[in-house]
Amino acid sequence: MSHDAELFIGGEWVRPSSTRLLNVVSPSTEETIAQVPEAMEEDVDRAVDLARAAFDQGPWPRTEPAERAEVLRRIAAHLGQRDQEIGRTITSEVGCPLAFGLRQVHGPVGILGATADLAESHQFSSWSTGLASRAAILSEPVGVVAAIVPWNGPLYLAVSKLAPALAAGCTVVIKPAPETPLNAVALAEACEAAGLPPGVVSILPAGRKVGQHLVSHPGIDKVAFTGSTAAGRKIMATCAERMARVTLELGGKSAAIILDDADPRVAAEQMLMGTTMNTGQACALLSRILVPASLHDAFVDALSELMAGIRVGDPFDAETTMGPLVSERQRDRVENYLAIAQAEGAKIAHGGGRPPHLPKGWYIEGTILVGVENHMRIAREEVFGPVASVISYEAGDSEAVRLANDSEYGLHGAVFTSDLERGMAVARQVRTGTFTINGFGLDPCIPFGGYKQSGIGREGGTMGLEAYLETKALFVPDGFEPKGI
Ligand code: NAD
Repeated sequence: MSHDAELFIGGEWVRPSSTRLLNVVSPSTEETIAQVPEAMEEDVDRAVDLARAAFDQGPWPRTEPAERAEVLRRIAAHLGQRDQEIGRTITSEVGCPLAFGLRQVHGPVGILGATADLAESHQFSSWSTGLASRAAILSEPVGVVAAIVPWNGPLYLAVSKLAPALAAGCTVVIKPAPETPLNAVALAEACEAAGLPPGVVSILPAGRKVGQHLVSHPGIDKVAFTGSTAAGRKIMATCAERMARVTLELGGKSAAIILDDADPRVAAEQMLMGTTMNTGQACALLSRILVPASLHDAFVDALSELMAGIRVGDPFDAETTMGPLVSERQRDRVENYLAIAQAEGAKIAHGGGRPPHLPKGWYIEGTILVGVENHMRIAREEVFGPVASVISYEAGDSEAVRLANDSEYGLHGAVFTSDLERGMAVARQVRTGTFTINGFGLDPCIPFGGYKQSGIGREGGTMGLEAYLETKALFVPDGFEPKGI
């Protein structure tokens, strides 16, 4: 990294306001692999002032969408050219297998390209006819955006906010998580290489205190956040004080419903990824598995066999399919939940411990809990580890739907069945932002977000762009046809 002693503020590499450093610790070796400057409140103030000036007086919000699209494509090209290096960086700080680290570069490159296309095709203005008048409907950028990013998919989640914000004409201050600031240096370099006007993008790695300062800043018009529901609740309360716009992508406790006509082996194959991807550190994972009593043992046997095939180990080893958890704090949290689950009566059918061959690193085995009931904490709270909670049900599809919906969360879900119409009927009844029939996957360019306490608003696709736009209804005198509408 060429800029590891500076902060990227307003499009320039500058000296940080303090000498404080963030230690980046490898989840697999527990060793410090890098130190980067930690942004302080003064750095935030400077970045917001520059972003404010760039929005209020600078050229960026007034550029043509096609021009903004070209900038997004240049950011994508820079990241794409450095994909191997940035993929390794992500693996080194997140601990995910290298192939997954690479996907975490290619995904953002795809998002930037798709958002550039969207910027060019989107109708930023149209006409609307009311009762007695006609108005031009203008979509204008929402203003200065604070983007708060977690550590589990750091580049992906930063770009999911940056791309539509820039496409809309906003200026942006990104705060990466303190655990994973290294990929953000690369993103800053990509923004620099793309040639944005001064002030448009700042990237300030810091902890939650400085994050709270950023979201409280009166110069911020909109906050886009991904992370825990607890932090999201606090951020939304902060935004409420000044009616700052807010979109929240929060936690989940998503249910996979296996119907009694499903093939348990096929469902287990999908659920392997659906519970252990990124060592279980993804909000949309299907951590509750609702299995009819008639298929329970066959399903648990199939998933146990598949989990036994997971190669837990060094994320840089090409054979590895699951790396460590991101931090000691995260492993403590997962182990604590496993203890709570057992105290409440659940049983471990597979895994449950630290892999004995890996004395260093924050590793944990893929784990299956059986005998879970939906009222237990393990079934209600987000664990964020590779833990599948199997809940057995007896009384048909409607009982499975009731259990799936009996949650504070409403992020994702799935149904497994050999009857697609039956699957459709279930899909329509489950209250979640995304849902899959006979699968697990998601797509970053299709609206993603939560019902209930899983969040507010959507990222991805047209809805993701609209989250960075305000609507102005412009009444004009009869006979006047403004140019460009
Ligand atoms: P967190 O929500 O506290 O942190 C996520 C990001 O938000 C980080 O950048 C953090 O610095 C920032 N942040 C936290 N509080 C803030 C505030 N008040 N104002 C501004 N920024 C703030 O998550 P965590 O403590 O890293 O992880 C704890 C749990 O949260 C995990 O175990 C998991 O259950 C959940 N989580 C969910 C997601 C997700 O994608 N939905 C991501 C990370 C963590």
